[in-house]
Amino acid sequence: MSTLQSYGWTAHFMNHRSNEGLDTARVLSIQGFKHHLITEEGYVEAELSGALLNRCELEDYPKVGDWVLVKRYDEEGIIIDTLPRINELSRKAPGSVSSRQVLAANIDVAFIVQGLDRDFNLMRLQRYLQQIMQCHIQPVVILNKADLVPDPETYRQQVAELGYDCPVILTSALDEAQQKEWAGYLLPQHTYILLGSSGVGKSTLLNSLLGHKLQEEGATSVANNKGRHTTTARQLVLLPNGSMIIDVPGMREFGVTAAEGNDAVVHPQIEALAPLCRFSNCSHQHEPGCAVIKAVRNETLPELVYRSYLKLLREQYHFQTSEADRRRNEKQFAKIGKQVSKHRKDSKY
Ligand code: GDP
Ligand code: ZN
Repeated sequence: MSTLQSYGWTAHFMNHRSNEGLDTARVLSIQGFKHHLITEEGYVEAELSGALLNRCELEDYPKVGDWVLVKRYDEEGIIIDTLPRINELSRKAPGSVSSRQVLAANIDVAFIVQGLDRDFNLMRLQRYLQQIMQCHIQPVVILNKADLVPDPETYRQQVAELGYDCPVILTSALDEAQQKEWAGYLLPQHTYILLGSSGVGKSTLLNSLLGHKLQEEGATSVANNKGRHTTTARQLVLLPNGSMIIDVPGMREFGVTAAEGNDAVVHPQIEALAPLCRFSNCSHQHEPGCAVIKAVRNETLPELVYRSYLKLLREQYHFQTSEADRRRNEKQFAKIGKQVSKHRKDSKY
């Protein structure tokens, strides 16, 4: 198998391969301007070409997991283009109302890790599921630290009752036998990403898969403006069994973005009830004859599920309307800019 195939190169990207003296590479990590890439011939460190910098919107810049075309000069290179993505995992950019931030690209499965000690939270879990599914990525839930609670199975049951089509793995990162079991879940040449609040055991899980502690190769600790130190480098690592995993350290928020097209909030239990509503376009908020509201009233639909649905719907709506405002403003600025330069030309200064 070629190096690129072992890093997940598939027929999907083949059509886009260019051979004008450019190499194909996958982005393993990014630190500032430096992109660490793997090519058929080995590792390359590359920066973005000026043209790419000028052309792209921030979210279109190469991300960890992307396939890129690179012009090589020995161990260094210049990234000329990003190949079309199979999917991209995005979230609402922290601290913004309407900007999307792409975390990584070309992902097969996203693991949502929660710790059963303090971190277990069904509302947050549904936010992750919503966002991951609207990014067209298969979610898998990992309930870690099962050794710390007397009745771990009840937690798995609670997740299962939400009705999502998604496996739920109960495990303890400290238990070797259980680690072998979930390692068996990972397929060679597939790309996985580990998501979840800090402290839930993501690094412990990853280290046990690696069989050693992940060296933070070149990963720098940067002081954020709160004065705390966090390692912010995301990186794609190749595991001994041939699968790849992307580690996302220091994630504090995972806000939803607007869904593409008409994909609204997807919740299996709400979707099952929707056909019974009087109106086919029922928003399940105030309409008469709403089967969802009725089910909440007679307690056949858990209130938590309904509240979570409403919350996600509002967040999506908020993102969407602010995004529309932002685009309108940008257009307006561009128009003014053009008028100013025309005025300058006309009055020759
Ligand atoms: P991360 O921030 O998500 O990467 O979390 P870490 O992997 O750094 O784990 C945070 C703490 O939880 C560490 O002290 C781990 O030893 C501990 N830990 C991780 N997994 C488990 C587990 O399954 N059981 C128990 N009891 N502790 C765990
Ligand atoms: Zn309804």
